[in-house]
Parts: sequence; structure tokens; C-alpha cells
Amino acid sequence: MKHNFGAGPCILPQEVFQKASQAVLNFNDTGLSILEISHRSKEFEGVIAETESLVRELLSVPLGYSILFLQGGASTQFAMAPMNLLPEGSKAAYLDTGTWASKAIKEAKRIGQVTVVASSNDANYTYVPKDYEIPTDAAYFHYTSNNTIFGTEIFETPASVVPIVSDMSSDILSRKIKVSDYGLIYAGAQKNMGPAGVTLVIVKDELLGKTGRTLPSIFDYQSHIAAGSMYNTPPVYSIFVSMLNLRWLKKKGGIDVIEQENIIKSRTLYDEIERNPLFKGTAITEDRSRMNVTFVTENKAHETAFLDLAKERELIGLKGHRSVGGFRASIYNALSITGVNALVDAMQEFEEKNT
Ligand SMILES: *Cc1c(COP(=O)(O)O)cnc(C)c1O
Repeated sequence: MKHNFGAGPCILPQEVFQKASQAVLNFNDTGLSILEISHRSKEFEGVIAETESLVRELLSVPLGYSILFLQGGASTQFAMAPMNLLPEGSKAAYLDTGTWASKAIKEAKRIGQVTVVASSNDANYTYVPKDYEIPTDAAYFHYTSNNTIFGTEIFETPASVVPIVSDMSSDILSRKIKVSDYGLIYAGAQKNMGPAGVTLVIVKDELLGKTGRTLPSIFDYQSHIAAGSMYNTPPVYSIFVSMLNLRWLKKKGGIDVIEQENIIKSRTLYDEIERNPLFKGTAITEDRSRMNVTFVTENKAHETAFLDLAKERELIGLKGHRSVGGFRASIYNALSITGVNALVDAMQEFEEKNT
């Protein structure tokens, strides 16, 4: 059995793949494919309404927040967030914790003024900066909750008097969050919520319409809110598959249950990395991610050999990002403890062969 540790697009539950494939041939006994039904049809309206209500329920999204399903990925949100929340002449505060955070900063600078409150670039993003001050006159404070590439995660919402904007692409729905702590949350679906092609946006309504900037409608959250995520044709199939995945998560017991599983999975893997003399983790212990576990071999010459063994054991997608090297095991919601145990077994087998 293959175990997919890929960072994104990523593994989804088998039952989601099965139901998704059935619907391609015959959606809900309509005799039509999910790929051909109108996004304005009663059937699809049911899909988008259920997807939204599952997000609202699973994440306990309070009233006063809109939930949107957009296209363009998290990368489009790097620009849309400042377009919609950064008034002309104001500045936004950003925390730089890795590649995605830096890209968000770069895009925000094209829209307005940006203050970078702290960066861990000095140590190749192996930690999360803790000592920084958020200017009280900033329009908002932006941070990346999980650094997919460098394997660090921010579990506690930073204290901030200004609205918080968070890129949660790679840890959304993996642990409990308090949505009311945030002004805007966005996440590309392909790391934990569903397939590529849809981006989840949760935005506090009262923050919108205050920039003094006229936006192209497609980049304005308010046009999407007014149209119930149907300002233009939404990514019908990606939303449908996300709905199936959210149903799976709900049936499993929701965020509390998956969070416990994610704690156990990551602890199992980090314990082995610490115990096994051939490997070492790259992120500092207190900031280690539960979703993306980054590690290297003590002996550089072992790297290819371990990847070969992993391949033999059908452990897929373990090669680390080029900016970190070594390995990255992405252990998102759908990656089972069986998969983690198979990786740990391979690491132990590798130790026996090489010591
Ligand atoms: C993958 C990723 C992105 C980029 O997402 P796209 O949907 O490809 O634009 C942004 N932020 C984080 C944290 C990511 O993991």
C-alpha cells in the first residue's frame, strides 16, 4: 500500500476519492456528471451550501464572518488581502517565517506600505520569531500559521490589537482555532481541505469596504460575498470534493478528534527522529510543525540511500524542498498513523543496515 507524504496537492481519504469518482459518472442520481451540471442548478446550490455549513460547523465560525470559495490559490490572497484591508496611506505589519510569508510580503508591498515586524531568515527559517511588536497603527497583522516548506508552526495566535490576517493553507482543519481572533483567514484547499482549485476565505464582514480603493470586482471580497461565491463560475468539482472531505472529517468526530490524531502522528515521527542517530530534525523543538515534518540525515551520503529505501517501501513524496534539503513528511489529516508507522519502520530498518 502506498503512503503519500506529498506536501500538496496531498493525500485525501480513499472514500473521498471513491465518491468523487462516482460523481464524475453520475452525480446524485441525476444521470449527469458533476463536471457538467450548472453551477446555478439546485443540485450545486445544495453542494455549496453544505460545504459552507460544514466549514462553519467544523471551525465554529461565528456570525459576522463570511465564508468564500474562490479561485487563484493562496497566492491570489497574498494580493487580495492588502487590496481589501489596507487603506491608502496606511501600513500593514507582517511576520516573515518562510517562503510563503515572504511571498505574501512581496505582494503586499505592491499594494501599499509594509512593516516586517520580525524575520527568521537569519537561520533559514528554522524557528518562529517571538520577540516583536506589532505597530498599533497597522491596518492588520499578517502571519503564516504553518510554514509548509520549513516545518514550523505557530500554535498560539499572536496577541494583537489590530486585526489578524492568517495564511492557514497547510494547517486549516488540523487543529482547533478561534475564528473570532482573526479578521481574515485564507487557505488554498490542496493541503488539507480538498483538491487544488479552490481557496477558502473566512472574512470578518465589518472590516470590508474601508480602504478608499476601487477594486476590480473579481478582487473585491464584497462582490463574492454579495454573490454567495458565485460572482463568476466557481470551481464546482473542487468544492464538491472538499465537501466530501469535510463530511469525512465530521463523521470522524471533527476537529477535536483529528487534532488528537495529528498530535499522536507527529509525536511518533519526531520521537523516532530524535531517537534514531542517523537522522536529525531541522526545526527547533518548540516550533515544530504537526503537519510538515522536516528532517535530514546526519551523514549527507545517506540521503539518496534513504530515499531509495522509502521508495521500495512505497513511501511517496518524502524528498525535502530544495531550500531545506533532506526530507519532508507531510502528515496531513488523511495520512493515517499506519502511514507514519511505515515511515518509522523504514527509518529503523535504515539504521540497522547502516550502523
Ligand atoms: C502551498 C502554500 C501556498 C500557495 O498556495 P497556492 O494555492 O499554490 O497559491 C501559500 N501558503 C502556504 C502556507 C502554502 O503552504
